[in-house]
Amino acid sequence: MPKPSFTLQRRLLLTILTLSMALNNGLGQDWSAPLPPELPWHGLSENLIVSKDDPWITPAERSGLTRTPRYGETVAWLEKLAAASSQVKLISLGKSPELRDIWLAVVTKEGVATVADLKANGRPTLLAQAGIHPGEIDGKDAGLMILRDLTVAGAHPRLLDSVNLLLIPILNVDGHERLAPFGRINQRGPVETGWRTTGGNLNLNRDYAKLDTREMRLLVQALNQWEPDLYLDIHVTDGIDYQYDITFGYIGRHGLSPESARWLDEWFTPAVTAALKARGHIPGPLVFAIDDQDPSAGLLDWTATPRFSNGYGDVRHLPTVLVENHSLKPFRQRVLGTYVLLEASLRLLATHGEDLQRAILADRTREPAMVPLDWKQTPGPSGQIEFLGVQWRTYPSAVTGQQQVRWTGELVTLQVPYRRFTEPAATARRPRAYWIPPAWDDVIDRLAVHGIYMDRMQRPREVEVEMIRFSSYQLADEAYEGHIRVTATGVVERRREIFPAGSVRIPTDQPLGDLAVVLLEPDSPDSYFQWGFFLEIFQRSEYVEQYVMIPLAQRMIDTTPNLRARFRAKLADDPDFAADPKARLRWFYEMTPYHDTRYRLYPVGWER
Ligand SMILES: [Zn+2]
Repeated sequence: MPKPSFTLQRRLLLTILTLSMALNNGLGQDWSAPLPPELPWHGLSENLIVSKDDPWITPAERSGLTRTPRYGETVAWLEKLAAASSQVKLISLGKSPELRDIWLAVVTKEGVATVADLKANGRPTLLAQAGIHPGEIDGKDAGLMILRDLTVAGAHPRLLDSVNLLLIPILNVDGHERLAPFGRINQRGPVETGWRTTGGNLNLNRDYAKLDTREMRLLVQALNQWEPDLYLDIHVTDGIDYQYDITFGYIGRHGLSPESARWLDEWFTPAVTAALKARGHIPGPLVFAIDDQDPSAGLLDWTATPRFSNGYGDVRHLPTVLVENHSLKPFRQRVLGTYVLLEASLRLLATHGEDLQRAILADRTREPAMVPLDWKQTPGPSGQIEFLGVQWRTYPSAVTGQQQVRWTGELVTLQVPYRRFTEPAATARRPRAYWIPPAWDDVIDRLAVHGIYMDRMQRPREVEVEMIRFSSYQLADEAYEGHIRVTATGVVERRREIFPAGSVRIPTDQPLGDLAVVLLEPDSPDSYFQWGFFLEIFQRSEYVEQYVMIPLAQRMIDTTPNLRARFRAKLADDPDFAADPKARLRWFYEMTPYHDTRYRLYPVGWER
């Protein structure tokens, strides 16, 4: 059968050609990433890897922790585990846009499958989330190992007597399946990774506040339902070279959850640090270099706003730890360190979870009168921090035409400046409530998905409120995460405002009151206003013809001497105005009752 075999040959040739084009981009190049030298590492945590003949070996372990399994293989392994152990239940949070289930593994002593049963067992609950950035997948493969060890392997007897574990192995399931060896140029494995953003090219770790994506809405609904006590969002970092393999951090006591931050300071950081060191790892604080071309310039203690997991956790009083494994450490070392961190977190919750639950309650009922919305560098001299760095040299680069950093792989301990960004850059006075008209139902829906309590009006309501009318605004030059962001300044007006039927009143004396403030205050960088959900108020919506406006303006001048004087003064003082016929007419029009009284008026009211 010459014809089919010819077709087959041609198809094979085409495949090889396409593949080699993709790999070489026509340049005939070696595309392996020229990473800085690998630092040698061995640690006791290597004993966590089971032997090759263990029936419960994970797909990543089978590869010597060099590969991460695809979505299908991951789910198949979890289903096998759930079939073998009644303590593991797999629950779908819902489907992604590409129709993949986002799985939650619920691991409890009794094998509970519902929120009600989880709450009934009364134990503290850890939620570990992997794959919000699928290229940074360590949490999934460490999670599978610890699920096995907690259940079928019996490696941690009695731990589930005192704590529950929820694991989201892959949050961005669609990005996870955009698999390639080229997803993470700065990272030492696994061999192939998924892609950072969703199918719609949105970054889920910028979507916690605005909730554009289905994935994030499903996650936030799960946070509201399952109410974990501690939330770990597991990433792999980029940035400069250093010795730490596992870094982690959270919003400190300056934020909106100071009691939870105190618990994290007093219990979590020491316990997790000690556990990691005992197994041979090199834990450290989150590293944000001030200048990635000069590590001696120091580090930032940056405060995330609620578009990020840790900022969101702080604002909604869910203790949230951002875990950033170092991208230049091998996948194997990172997965093992993540396992140790997960185990230490579970052990700590088992012994000190009740203290954390008390802290959460205190944060939820704190209701500060002034709510910080944004953060800036704390004034005064910066402190110093000991930094376990890697030596670097600079060299002249023909590519950039300037001096560049090259990491040498030698270990160095430095004292470097530590600049804290813990000073509020914008603050809002907490109102008694916010009023939102029903025309802004998209915003109302998003607030409801967050779990914010609201009263919906069945009839129109006349309310004494403060509102802001913007006098100037600035649109961003470029789209960011699917939005044209906006900032504005304005003047507050006291108004008796009629809010139509369907309006909502959002009281701020509720557990998520701080979150409502941060989402609704226009000075907040993660408010719906700044994300561009209210751009409609900046457009004029009714028109006036010149043949009407000119004689009307003339009548205004003729009958009002005071106005005539102001007009003359304006013409004299403002040459641009004087030269612009439309601006001159607009000046008069805006003084008439025909002018749109809602133009540039932020429709959300403050009830003081
Ligand atoms: Zn990340």
